[in-house]
Amino acid sequence: MNIEQNKPLKNLNTFGIASVAKYYVAVDSEDKIKELLNDPVFKNSKRIILGGGSNVLFTKDFDGLVVHVLNKGKTVKEDGELIYVNAKAGEIWTDFVEYCVENNYCGVENLVDIPGTVGATPIQNVGAYGVETKDVFHELEAINIQTREIEKFTLTECKFGYRDSIFKNELKDKYIITSVTYKLASKPKLNTSYGDIQKKLEERVKDKNYSIKDVYEIVSEIRGEKLPDPKDLGNAGSFFKNPIVSRDVLASLQQKYPEIPSFDVDDQSVKIPAAWFLDNAGWKGKKTGNVGSYEKQPIIIVNFGNAAGDEIFAFSEEIINDIKEKYGVQLEREVNVY
Ligand SMILES: Cc1cc2nc3c(=O)[nH]c(=O)nc-3n(C[C@H](O)[C@H](O)[C@H](O)COP(=O)(O)OP(=O)(O)OC[C@H]3O[C@@H](n4cnc5c(N)ncnc54)[C@H](O)[C@@H]3O)c2cc1C
Repeated sequence: MNIEQNKPLKNLNTFGIASVAKYYVAVDSEDKIKELLNDPVFKNSKRIILGGGSNVLFTKDFDGLVVHVLNKGKTVKEDGELIYVNAKAGEIWTDFVEYCVENNYCGVENLVDIPGTVGATPIQNVGAYGVETKDVFHELEAINIQTREIEKFTLTECKFGYRDSIFKNELKDKYIITSVTYKLASKPKLNTSYGDIQKKLEERVKDKNYSIKDVYEIVSEIRGEKLPDPKDLGNAGSFFKNPIVSRDVLASLQQKYPEIPSFDVDDQSVKIPAAWFLDNAGWKGKKTGNVGSYEKQPIIIVNFGNAAGDEIFAFSEEIINDIKEKYGVQLEREVNVY
C-alpha cells in the first residue's frame, strides 16, 4: 500500500487548516480498503476516515493515519416509478446530484451544492432546504473495521436524527462506508415548502409546470447568495447545530425575547435556530484575529486566512460559553473536531 508520511492536510479540508498527518493513504476500491485493514500501519494507528474534508476541523497535527476514501462509480436500477441509484462513497456529492437532476430522478435536488462525498452524507444525515438524506435513503454498504466484512445498513438501522446517525454514536469510527443507495422517483414530487423556493418558482415559472431542474437551480442560487465558498473563505458550513429545547425553556425565553423563532420537533420540544442566538448575542460578523462569524450567516465560522485549527476551536468555545451564559442554552458543534 502506498502509505505516505507527514502528509500536509491543508488542501484536504475546506477550512484550509495546515495540519499534517503522520500517515496518509488514498483508497479507490473496496479491495484496497480490505487490503489496508491488514496493514500494520492501519492496525497500529489512530485513524480518521476522510471524504471531502468539508465537515472536519483539525485542531492539531494528526498522529495517526488518514484514510482518504476515493472509490467511484454509479449503478441504476429502475422499479416502476422508483429509481435506485447506488453511488460509491468517493463520488463527489454535487456531481451525484447533478447526475440525478439531468436524468430526471427526483429527490436530491434540494441538496445541491453541499460539498463533500456521497459516503459522508449518511454520517450526519446531511440536510438542506427541507430535505434530509434519510428522506431518499435506501441502504448503504460499509466495511466493518473489526471483522473486515462488508455489511448492509437499512434506513432504520442507520438511526438517523437531526444531523445525526448511528455512525456518530455507537458505531463511531467502526465502519468505512463504501457505497450508498438512494431511492429516487421518476415522477417529480417536489419539495418547495422551505424558505423562498416556492416564491421564486412562482416568479420564474409562469405556467406553474415546475421541474426538478427549476428547484435545483433556485436552491443553488439561494445558497450562492448566503454561503461563503470555501475556495475564497475557509469554512465547514454550519459550525453549530440548531439547539432542540423543551417547550418550557422556549416559554421562559419568550418572556424576554417574544420574537424568538422556533420550529416544532414533537409534543415536548422545539428547535431554535442557532443563528438567532448568535445574532442576538452580537456574534454576527464578529472577528478575532484570523477567525470570525460569517456576516451573512453567523453559524458559519470562517478562516480569514492562515488561522490554526485550535484558534477556530477556541473561537467556537467562546461562542458556546457566551450563549450558555446569556440564554442558558447549550450549543453543540456540528463539525467533527480532531
Ligand atoms: C460551504 C459548506 C456548506 C455546507 N452545507 C451543508 C448543508 O447544507 N447541509 C449539511 O448537512 N452539511 C453541509 N455542509 C457540511 C458538509 O458538506 C457535509 O457534512 C458533508 O456531507 C461532508 O462530506 P465530506 O465528504 O466532506 O466529509 P468529511 O468532512 O471528510 O467527513 C465528515 C465525517 O464523516 C466521516 N466520513 C466521511 N466519509 C466517510 C466514509 N466513507 N466512511 C465512514 N466515515 C466517513 C469522517 O470521518 C468525518 O467524521 C457544508 C459544508 C460547507 C463547507
